[in-house]
Amino acid sequence: MPKPLLSLLLAGLTLLVAPAARAQKTYVQCGRLLDMRSARAQTEMTVVIENGRVTAVQAGYATGGAADKVIDLQNRTVLPGLIDCHVHLEGETSKDNFLQEFTQNPADVAFTALGYARKTLLAGFTTVRDLGGSGVNVALRNAINRGQVVGPRIFTVGKAISGTGGHMDPTNGYRRDLMGVPGPAEGVANGPDQCRQAVREQYKRGADLIKIASTGGVLSVAKDGSSAQMTEEEIKAVVETARDLGLKVACHAHGAEGMKRAIRAGVASIEHGTLMDAETMTLMKKYGTWYVPTITAGKSVADSAKIPNYYPPLVTPKALAIGPKLQATFGRAYKAGVKIAFGTDASVYRHGVNALEFQYMVEAGMPAYEALRAATVAAAELLGQTDNLGTLEPGKLADLVAVDGDPTQDITTMQRVRFVMKQGVVYRQE
Ligand SMILES: [Zn+2]
Repeated sequence: MPKPLLSLLLAGLTLLVAPAARAQKTYVQCGRLLDMRSARAQTEMTVVIENGRVTAVQAGYATGGAADKVIDLQNRTVLPGLIDCHVHLEGETSKDNFLQEFTQNPADVAFTALGYARKTLLAGFTTVRDLGGSGVNVALRNAINRGQVVGPRIFTVGKAISGTGGHMDPTNGYRRDLMGVPGPAEGVANGPDQCRQAVREQYKRGADLIKIASTGGVLSVAKDGSSAQMTEEEIKAVVETARDLGLKVACHAHGAEGMKRAIRAGVASIEHGTLMDAETMTLMKKYGTWYVPTITAGKSVADSAKIPNYYPPLVTPKALAIGPKLQATFGRAYKAGVKIAFGTDASVYRHGVNALEFQYMVEAGMPAYEALRAATVAAAELLGQTDNLGTLEPGKLADLVAVDGDPTQDITTMQRVRFVMKQGVVYRQE
């Protein structure tokens, strides 16, 4: 019997014997595959997907049965979905950012965030950590998870936490009568007790992890961008409370003293880390603390600060002083052996160009493969999601991206993602 006839007969037989017994499988044929398990790319491979998960990764181009779907990426390089460990999906840089706090309702924030979420996913970032907003990010995460809107898988902190006048105080720079006295419910905590309450507030609202600022920051309307703003006792209270609730802590820090306190207190990651010294790097290695560099944000704030009146007067000098230092800090931290997870601070620059960070990492001395690893395997580890994310192998969620050429030879190709699949669903195919 001719082969096509036989398979037709068998397909018909399957239909008769067991209707709908087997879910449709998707066969993604990969010209080149970087599964991020083996250090070398494999050629002519097929990733098999069923019910949103990878069920097999096999050599050669397989097609499955008549009922199955084949996606031809024979001319592309396929990698696991990318993970950005530091974004803010609720907003985006603009000359009017400060004014928007007084004109936007949560619903306005939500509708705007939908566009940013979509751009992020279509750029190949299938998972993000949202490191702070008003709390709309929790609702956005839920809507994406329900399949009602399009966006990356979100792990969110809800609203980030710091002390009064600290980087996360939402009323910095306001007129006195509008400032009020924000407290733990607003992410402003003083002393260990309030820190514990602030963590529990975010947990109650649905946070997946906790974010604090142990030093000043660039974009808050406050004078100091780098001095320590939380005591070690306060940070310990945050970390211990979060740990009890099964949450990790991400810590924004520019100055070394604030970083050291946070590392000793047990935070999972240092974000930005601009003025990190050798002693801090040694401490990070000792404690196994991750570094999320956000070089793109550093470069972007330095550029924006050169535009007259782009930022409020208190912000401009901080942006000019801190922004340009990040890339060199990253280079030193990488050479020192600090664990690096990919993160960009998208919102401080425009959403959807997150992959610029890869180029900056490579420019600073990190091999391209290591940079890709930071956005996959390493990021999954920081998220505590190694069972689901970070590599392409049986059992993992079917998050796949594809680019032209070989990103280990030309990292800029990551800025032109051609194919995006999240949990088995295709969102972009060129
Ligand atoms: Zn940030």
